[in-house]
Amino acid sequence: MRKQIAAANWKMNCTLTQAEELLSKLAAAEINVTENRISVIAVPAPYLILAQQQLVHKANVFVAAQNCYSKKSGAYTGETSVEMLQSIGTAYVLIGHSERREYFHETNSLLADKVNIALEYNITPIFCCGEALDIREANTQNEFVGRQLEESLFHLTAEQLQKVVIAYEPIWAIGTGKTASSEQAQEMHAYIRSALAAKYGSSVADSISILYGGSVKGSNAAELFAQPDVDGGLVGGASLNAEEFTAIINALK
Ligand code: PEP
Repeated sequence: MRKQIAAANWKMNCTLTQAEELLSKLAAAEINVTENRISVIAVPAPYLILAQQQLVHKANVFVAAQNCYSKKSGAYTGETSVEMLQSIGTAYVLIGHSERREYFHETNSLLADKVNIALEYNITPIFCCGEALDIREANTQNEFVGRQLEESLFHLTAEQLQKVVIAYEPIWAIGTGKTASSEQAQEMHAYIRSALAAKYGSSVADSISILYGGSVKGSNAAELFAQPDVDGGLVGGASLNAEEFTAIINALK
């Protein structure tokens, strides 16, 4: 059975005091998680160790970095390596969030290198993909997302691919309050799974968690997550509120 995952992306938000408060609320929250129904919290880099300390007793809740660099170590001022993430026990890393692609010019080929190095250090990549509004309006979203998968993931072996989580996040739905309908989400997730199946076979494709991201809230999570190919969500804004995010975790299949 593939994992159902409620992942939080705090983005560049929270002071230390706010982070402590949010983490302590999450640590105390009554959440319905199991080995196959988990939560992942992607916090800003300065709070990774704090988050791990505060959530260490929370079974099936993991901490993620929001980014990493593609090189092992060296003269790359300002970057965070996966070797560092591994050394502090980080389990997951977001790779290729649309904000990184847009503001930091991350390309599919750079993201392929980041996926490779994360896997090399046993950190699970949550690989983000998704189209902008003009691509959706031109009805070329499948080709666009297909290319993102092909250029960043399809060099992996089946064994490696099975260690990756995919997050489909239509850019027009991120932070806009405009959620994709559950039909639109299901349609794209089914397309992604079919592309994985065409390359790796259906048993590999069926084992991969595909999360939906884009204005997921407590009020729409259950309907989105009920779709057969939607295995949870990657949540920005609503993850900054512990009660809202708890409701999203508890809406997992
Ligand atoms: C995100 O940051 O990945 C995201 C989906 O943001 P939001 O939930 O705010 O749309």
